[in-house]
Amino acid sequence: MIETSTVVPVATERTRVRVPLRFADGYSTTADVVTFDGLVDGREHLLLGLGDWRAALDRAVDGGPAPLVRPHSECLTGDVFGSERCDCGPQLREAVERIADEGGFLLYLRQEGRGIGLYAKLDAYALQDSGLDTYEANVALGRGEDERDYTVAAQMLRAVGADRIRLLSNNPDKARQLEALGVAVAEQVRTGVHVSAANHRYLEAKRDHTAHTIDLSAA
Ligand SMILES: [Zn+2]
Repeated sequence: MIETSTVVPVATERTRVRVPLRFADGYSTTADVVTFDGLVDGREHLLLGLGDWRAALDRAVDGGPAPLVRPHSECLTGDVFGSERCDCGPQLREAVERIADEGGFLLYLRQEGRGIGLYAKLDAYALQDSGLDTYEANVALGRGEDERDYTVAAQMLRAVGADRIRLLSNNPDKARQLEALGVAVAEQVRTGVHVSAANHRYLEAKRDHTAHTIDLSAA
């Protein structure tokens, strides 16, 4: 799509530190965790360099495939506690391994509940239990269906030299926003489908309402 690139303020690396990761299923790898100065919303977002991300950047400069990148929005209930109301935990686990295999970056974005915050997300869960879907519930609370903004993602990618990426996501809005922010999305790579009895309606809403590429028939 052709859109005028928004001017994205420059962020700079603040600290880079090696952190060994081990997930509940035993999968382990090591991340280069990067923090930044100058992120526009003042929140503490992280970039995790996984696998041989330096080689992935070099390959991209030489005209090879761009590094694999997953912008993951924080979900305390799913990421930390294993909630089955959404698919965030399995998505995070899958993304870390796929990126570590190829070299690239996971962006851990502190925008809980599609940007409405943790308490409001739990309020929305209560509304969903009375029949609304995940988008309708946000609107019933007077919030946007999806308030996430990927400006900080573009800032972090630019700070590490990733101007062209392969985007690991089923969400067309992420690709649209990143392109508009000046990050070239060379390819959109689909994630797996992580369906359970508890999250089936949630995944249907993502597919039907916001055109996520999710094939629930195959799951
Ligand atoms: Zn979640």
